[in-house]
Amino acid sequence: MYSTMQDVQLNISRLLEHGRRVHGGSTVTTWTGEAEPHRRTFAEIGDRAAQLANALRDELGIEPGDVTATLMWNNAEHVEAYFAIPSMGAVLHTLNLRLPPEQLVWIVNHAADRVVLVNGSLLPLLAPLLPHLPTVEHIVVAGPGDRSVLDGVAPRVHEYEELIAGRPTTYPWPELDERTAAAMCYTSGTTGDPKGVVYSHRSIYLHSMQVNMAESMALTDRDTTLIVVPQFHVNAWGLPHATLMTGVNMLMPDRFLQPAPLAEMIERERPTHAAAVPTIWQGLLAEVTANPRDLSSMTHVTIGGAACPPSLMEAYDKLGVRLCHAWGMTETSPLGTMAHPPAGLGAEEEWPYRVTQGRFPAGVEARLVGPGGDHLPWDGTSAGELEVRGTWIAGAYFGGADGEAFRPEDKFSEDGWLKTGDVGIISPDGYLTLTDRAKDVIKSGGEWISSVELENALMAHPAVAEAAVVAVPDERWGERPLATVVLKEGATADYETLKTFLATEGGIAKWQLPERWAVVPAVPKTSVGKFDKKVIRRQYAEGELDVTQL
Ligand code: AMP
Repeated sequence: MYSTMQDVQLNISRLLEHGRRVHGGSTVTTWTGEAEPHRRTFAEIGDRAAQLANALRDELGIEPGDVTATLMWNNAEHVEAYFAIPSMGAVLHTLNLRLPPEQLVWIVNHAADRVVLVNGSLLPLLAPLLPHLPTVEHIVVAGPGDRSVLDGVAPRVHEYEELIAGRPTTYPWPELDERTAAAMCYTSGTTGDPKGVVYSHRSIYLHSMQVNMAESMALTDRDTTLIVVPQFHVNAWGLPHATLMTGVNMLMPDRFLQPAPLAEMIERERPTHAAAVPTIWQGLLAEVTANPRDLSSMTHVTIGGAACPPSLMEAYDKLGVRLCHAWGMTETSPLGTMAHPPAGLGAEEEWPYRVTQGRFPAGVEARLVGPGGDHLPWDGTSAGELEVRGTWIAGAYFGGADGEAFRPEDKFSEDGWLKTGDVGIISPDGYLTLTDRAKDVIKSGGEWISSVELENALMAHPAVAEAAVVAVPDERWGERPLATVVLKEGATADYETLKTFLATEGGIAKWQLPERWAVVPAVPKTSVGKFDKKVIRRQYAEGELDVTQL
């Protein structure tokens, strides 16, 4: 028997039309670095998104299925592109502006982008690449920045505002099969070539509902969310879509991502929620410690993309800002888990739940696979590789050698689950604790040492600003941990003290304590702000680190 329910396709245009009509007064505020930020209502965003779609179709000849890229900061125009492009049936491709130029070229060519919407301030990055981008026919420039760098290298250049001016503020959004491609994002490629993940209208729509749920980010029209996580990094964790759904005001930092302007933005605009990776929160903490600011409006913050050190969470607790840990990946849209403790617990009892990566929502099924391929129990102790499946989880990557979607064996199981490459344990009540990346775990004498556990314990030391631990080859044990430590400004600590601290305060077993140590000026980071352990391993191998062996 079939159901008797309507079969309305979950199209992104429905989110846009809902947001502009029902929440027309909600706002997108973009930081400008000037006396006043720029403000635009959802009603205006709706009008302008329709104008942009009209322009892309009538002036640039964009048709359904064409890939249209953005190389932009988080701002109102980027939100307009987020909705205009998929709603008209084209595919939004967000380009990561922190990637090395050769990777950007590879990605644009691989996706066959026809148009690039770019912020004026990013033209110096784009212009030198253009001779290597044969599929790109049009450049659309928004916001301030010197256009002359495009002279002689660009195909057709358009000014965003001139392009959309005077066009109709409605568009006959096509009724799309909800499985149609809406947006694409490439993985940040720490191993091998970047891989393209293509989100559907359906996956984005369902993911937006999850983002808003009380068990996730719990956002309503009473909230203002400061979206620091870039729009080029997994759709800014789904926030722009989720906000149009429920009328959440957006605060967009544009290119002002340094701790000082972020602190100013928070104090002046008083967001209730924010989303960013741990390095941003580390930087902001150092800033407000030196120059106090009122952060108290931010009652809840989503932190993820890399492990949140418990010490960071504690430090923000003291400022009245509650960090909630989340785990996800480009391949998971990204919401995988969020660490809200179960109901009915006191602060002390909540703590062990808060420091996990979080609990799986109904839409994300999870399993742990042991080294021998066996499925492990959710008993809070058995560690294995995490595999997930669900309606907003990737089932393949875009465009293999023959142009078809492809499913590499190391990324997808035979029965279609995504192999996350993350190693961890799951408690009986569904809380995930990651102990490592499969490739970062330290295999010492047949036992595993968690680099993340060592890092968290080190970062709890008052003299330590950041710490990254990697596996290095060892004749006797196969691998041993190397601890690289960034000291806080003006702080000192000798290695013996840190080692003792790990054993006593950190509760690290004796055989897991690192004997190789190095103080470094900064931990190398990937294009999306995560520890780049590949670089540390290379620096060690090439003798670039000043290593002390205890
Ligand atoms: P990306 O696709 O660039 O967002 O990277 C996804 C990867 O980031 C995951 O597979 C994890 O290894 C890591 N990651 C994301 N969130 C967390 C978290 N809360 N704790 C630890 N690692 C995380």
